[in-house]
Amino acid sequence: MINGLKRIDNVNCACNFALNQLYNYDFTMIIWSMSKKFFITTPIYYSNDIPHVGHMYSSLICDIFSRYKRLFGYDVKFSTGVDENSQKVVQKAIEHEMDIMDYLDMYAQKHKETWDNLDMSYTDFIRTTSEKHKAFVQQVLQKTYDRGDIYQGEYEGLYCVGCESFKKETDLIEKDGKLVCPDHLKEPERIKEKNWFFKLSKYQDQLVKFYENNPGFISPHFRFNEVIAFVKWGLEDFSISRETNKFGIPLPFDESQVTYVRYDALLNYLTVCQGGDEEFWPGIHVLGKDIARFHAIYWPAMLLSAGYQLPQKEIVTGFFTVDGQKMSKSLGNTVKPLELVEKYGRDAAVFYLFYDLVIGSDGDFSYARLEASRESMLSAGWGNLVSRVSKLADKNDISLGKKHLECFDLCKDDEEECLQDILSLTPVMIEELLETKWINYVLQLWYRGVQAANTYMQNQEPWVKLKSPESAQEGRQHLEFLLYVVKQLALISAPFLTEWFAKIQTILGNDLIAKVSTRETNEHWRQAWDLEEFDVTLAPDILYQKLEPSV
Ligand SMILES: [Zn+2]
Repeated sequence: MINGLKRIDNVNCACNFALNQLYNYDFTMIIWSMSKKFFITTPIYYSNDIPHVGHMYSSLICDIFSRYKRLFGYDVKFSTGVDENSQKVVQKAIEHEMDIMDYLDMYAQKHKETWDNLDMSYTDFIRTTSEKHKAFVQQVLQKTYDRGDIYQGEYEGLYCVGCESFKKETDLIEKDGKLVCPDHLKEPERIKEKNWFFKLSKYQDQLVKFYENNPGFISPHFRFNEVIAFVKWGLEDFSISRETNKFGIPLPFDESQVTYVRYDALLNYLTVCQGGDEEFWPGIHVLGKDIARFHAIYWPAMLLSAGYQLPQKEIVTGFFTVDGQKMSKSLGNTVKPLELVEKYGRDAAVFYLFYDLVIGSDGDFSYARLEASRESMLSAGWGNLVSRVSKLADKNDISLGKKHLECFDLCKDDEEECLQDILSLTPVMIEELLETKWINYVLQLWYRGVQAANTYMQNQEPWVKLKSPESAQEGRQHLEFLLYVVKQLALISAPFLTEWFAKIQTILGNDLIAKVSTRETNEHWRQAWDLEEFDVTLAPDILYQKLEPSV
């Protein structure tokens, strides 16, 4: 255990508790996907800046789910991209005296490079200026118009360009005698124009019924309650076009107006399913709390009107502070994903983000806790286990990993109880844990397994047993068993500790384990999981390099 690291309450209890819960799990609850298709999306990010750690966190949720789902045999679609038809992006391009498309190309490239350098396993990268997206948005608009759900009206209101949305006076705060947007601290513009409106109010009852029938639609649940309360308060129709903007997707029934950026952006999730991937819809959305209303209310209503199925689930993430302060450009404390990974390594960043921060809550990012978890949990915990076991086994010419039942039974002691639980898991159970208790839980369960395996090694002292002829055989069995334990723990960690997993594949030197990939759907992981006896050609290596002391 490590000082200063928050632990999530339910992990402090024995793993047995989790497994009992799993056996009692009510299977009438939402089963995310009955078919073998899995579709998950990040929000599309504004392309006027490079991604920060909050974006990285949302993308990682999608990446880790995608990688697990491939191991469980699903055909996975993981979509991300950039939101380009935004007024604020256009304004930035003008500020930089750049051609708008050149500016957008530049940022689309930067986003893509960030995700590629972070080894995100996305399958689709959408740009909302693409012809495919434009054509699809116009098709949906026409359908909605033909249903009588779009009408013309006059709109007057306060518009915050930073938020790309209209504000009520009650949404604003006072600063220097002016009413400003609480997020952007700027006075919204008063806009009065002829717009086209979407009949959101028409769908109020249908939405409430949908929420009631799908109690797991939004996670965490307190966000869901906020959404339901907002809808029950009464929905107003919203404007879906802009008269003054010229950059955007023209309405098919009125070419003088372009589509409101949020309306067009939401449709990206369906655009990527057009042209052969229709079966992937409906999918799961991961999004930030600032866009929860658009995703949980506007988007389902738009889909109801256009005749599409509603999303399966929406996972709403919180905001990050950095060492207790709001993350902002002016404070210069924006956490940049590539710098983070370059300094600490991808695995350490991922482990920290999902061990210390709970999906759905606001979280405080701390470099000190990241460094501490890297050194004392990953390096001294997992790194040390793999290194000690593989070196000792190599030194004693061991070429077999084996689930020795007598060793397995030894894990009944309290200290090592967790180990027996983890070794008893099946792929189906891991999948259910992932879906009901999420990534944080699986990662924490895994880490308890690492601790228990280290305790096992400490208690059994195979290095002592190997020294005397009477106990050498027993010492070998312990090491063969520990190689088996390392294999199981490595397989659980493969979707989140991708770099280390690749190293462990080399360290173990087994053909089947070497074939396991979280980037494509395959059977190898499940076959490797079931191996109770396997050959190894050990090549011990150090998993984690110590960090250079900061200057
Ligand atoms: Zn704003």
